[in-house]
Amino acid sequence: MYRLKIDFTIEGYAQAYKDSLFKRHNCSKGKKFQKPDDRLKIAIDQLKKRKKTAENTSCLDYLKKLKNELDSLILLKPSDFKRKCDEYDLIFDSSNVAETKIKLFGKKQEFYKHIVYALRYDDISWEFAEQMKKIPILSCVYCNMIETNSSDMDDPSIEGEVDFEIDHYKCKSLYPFLCISFYNMFPSCSKCNKKKSDLEFSNDFCLYVEDDFSERDPFEFSTKDAVLLEEINESFKIHFASKNDYAKELYGKEHLNMETRYNCANAKEQLRGILKRRYQTDDPDYLKKAFPDFDGNKIDFILQTPSNIEDCHSKSYTKLSIDFAKEQKIK
Ligand SMILES: [Zn+2]
Repeated sequence: MYRLKIDFTIEGYAQAYKDSLFKRHNCSKGKKFQKPDDRLKIAIDQLKKRKKTAENTSCLDYLKKLKNELDSLILLKPSDFKRKCDEYDLIFDSSNVAETKIKLFGKKQEFYKHIVYALRYDDISWEFAEQMKKIPILSCVYCNMIETNSSDMDDPSIEGEVDFEIDHYKCKSLYPFLCISFYNMFPSCSKCNKKKSDLEFSNDFCLYVEDDFSERDPFEFSTKDAVLLEEINESFKIHFASKNDYAKELYGKEHLNMETRYNCANAKEQLRGILKRRYQTDDPDYLKKAFPDFDGNKIDFILQTPSNIEDCHSKSYTKLSIDFAKEQKIK
């Protein structure tokens, strides 16, 4: 994961996401579309008619607070997550609320699942993916191996086309009030999302940073100095070097098992491609002949990835390519 600083551009996309929510879902067949605000109001009204048990009162307080601050929660910044989670935990201890079964919307379910339903989490993925295209984040933020989105497609969530899932930094099974919050959602491949599950990693593993001091590039790929093309064979090893303990924790065997996953044919093919293109550029006439449109940027040609690490999430294997090029002194 290469971490992104929240700047005016990203803030603009967050705002555009919020503004676009449920715009596509207006009246269908004369039935009024219930926005989260409407669903929360229905839930509150249902609860008000109930017996005033301690449990019902807590649920009611929780829903009222959520309804009041929903707008600001959608754009809540990561530095405020902890404070907010503590506030909601005071109303309801998140360690036992998942067990609280309560009848709302005609169904007896866990209270937190009701909230995810009321906030219409199932209806936001298109709007979210649209903004991710613009940043752009088009590959899994954890592994940077699998494409999660494509800038060419109208609907990125079409099954089978790309592997797009949303990972919640603060998981929705414990913090459902953040389930549609822009900065709490990271595009992830199904493999990483499943492995990460509800595990919560340290704050350092949030995709976004807000200051200039936080570590933004917590791990590095390494191979060895001066690799020859023919050396990248089956026994060749791509290593995963963590600069920090938390990167080791996330990417290690017990979690995302990244080193094993990266020692695959695709990743090695990527490195071979880089070396081949470097050899090709040694012939001064080659590029001119083979690529009439060549713009003169040899490094971009060799890497075939964005030259700026900030755009690391725009293409699979970018981080691997950039680190490899640095090690091979191509960059
Ligand atoms: Zn992944």
